[in-house]
Amino acid sequence: IHVNKTPLTSCRTNGHSLDDDALAPRQNATILMLARNDDLEEAVDALSSFESQFNHRYHYPVVFLNDEQWTDEFMQGVSSIVSGQTIFDTISPELWGYPDHVDQDAARAHIKEQGDRGIVHAGQESYHHMCRFYSMSDIPSQAHDGPTNNASGKFYDHPAIQSYKWYWRIEPGISFDCPINFDPFAYMSREKKRYAYVIALQEVGSTVRSLYRVVSDYKDRLNIIPSRYWDALVDPSWAPFPIRWLLRLAPYRDINGDEWNLCHFWNNFEIADLDFFREEGYRHMMEHLDELGGFYYERWGDASVRSFAATLLLKPEEIHYFGDDICYCHGDFCSPGTNLLDTQTSCPLEKPLEEKDWKGSYNQMCHEKFRKAHVL
Ligand code: GDP
Ligand code: MN
Repeated sequence: IHVNKTPLTSCRTNGHSLDDDALAPRQNATILMLARNDDLEEAVDALSSFESQFNHRYHYPVVFLNDEQWTDEFMQGVSSIVSGQTIFDTISPELWGYPDHVDQDAARAHIKEQGDRGIVHAGQESYHHMCRFYSMSDIPSQAHDGPTNNASGKFYDHPAIQSYKWYWRIEPGISFDCPINFDPFAYMSREKKRYAYVIALQEVGSTVRSLYRVVSDYKDRLNIIPSRYWDALVDPSWAPFPIRWLLRLAPYRDINGDEWNLCHFWNNFEIADLDFFREEGYRHMMEHLDELGGFYYERWGDASVRSFAATLLLKPEEIHYFGDDICYCHGDFCSPGTNLLDTQTSCPLEKPLEEKDWKGSYNQMCHEKFRKAHVL
C-alpha cells in the first residue's frame, strides 16, 4: 500500500485500523460530485485532498454530474487526479427544472422576491433546482420497484448512480485535512449504518419558513413515532425569545407549539445507503414535500429536507457521526475532530491555521443535541 507522504501518526485514528480495513472488501460505492465547468479549480482542490487523504488507497470511482455538457478541460483536469474510474454524465433538462405542478411564473416571482430580501442563494433559480435534485426523484413512489431503466431520476436514480448501493457526496472547494485510514463504506456496511454526517449546523431560518410545520404534520398524519433524533430538533430554549423575535424565527413551530431549533445535518458531506432514498418511505415523504412547492416558493435546502427524512424514517442507531474520525472542512466550517486537534500533534493541515477560524467553527449546540440523541 502506498501511504500518503505525511505520517499517519500525526492524526488521531480513533480506533480505526488501516489493517482491518485493508482486509475489508471493497463496497459497491461511488463518490459523487455535482459541479459546473467553472468549478474546475475548486474541484481539483477538493479531489486532491480527497485522493491524498483517502482514495489513493481505495480507488473508488467518482461520478461527476452537471446540468450542462462537460468541457474537455474539466474532464481532463479532474481525471488526472482521481485514482479510480471517472464517470462524467449530465442531468437532462427535465430533471433540472420545475415539476409540472409548480406554477413557473409564481415560482419565479417568489424567487425574485427571496433574492430581493437577501436570502442566501435564494434569488438563484438554479440553486432551487439543485436543492430539489439532491432531495428527491421524479420516479414516483409505488411505481418504483427496484432498479429501473427509466432514464429520468434525481441523483439516486440517475443512470450513472443507479447501480451503486453507497455514495459519498463531496463538493468543489471542500477539503479533507487528515488521512482517513479506514473505509467508511466498509464500516457502515458492517455496522448497519445508513446515513453518516460530520457537521451539524443551524439552518438559515428564512429559507424554511413552513418546512418544520409541514414535516411535523406529515409525521402526525402518518403516525410516525419520532426517534430521539427528532426530539433533538425540538427545543424551545435554543435561543432567547428576543433574539428569535428579532430574527423573525417564531413561525418554525408545529401544531403543538414546539419549535425547531434549526439543527440539521450539513449534507455537503454525506455518506449514505442509497437504498434508503429509494425506499417507499423516503419517496413518499419527498413527493409530499414537493407537491407543496416549497423548493421554489421558499428555498427549502436539501440538507434540512434530508435531515428531517433521516430523523423520522431511520432508526437512531442507523445514523452515524464521523466528525471525530474524518477531518473535513467546507468554507469556514470544519468537522469537530478537526477543531479538537491540538496544534502540536494535529493532522497535516493543508492551509495554515491562522487562515481558518478552527475553534467554534461548527455548531456546538447542534452537535451536542445530536450526540445525546444517539446515546441509546
Ligand atoms: P452552498 O454550499 O450551499 O453554498 O452551495 P454550493 O454552491 O456549494 O452548491 C452545492 C453543490 O451543488 C455543489 O456541488 C455545487 O457545485 C452544485 N451546484 C450548485 N448550483 C449548481 C448549478 O447550477 N449547476 C451545477 N451543475 N451544479 C450546481
Ligand atoms: Mn458548498
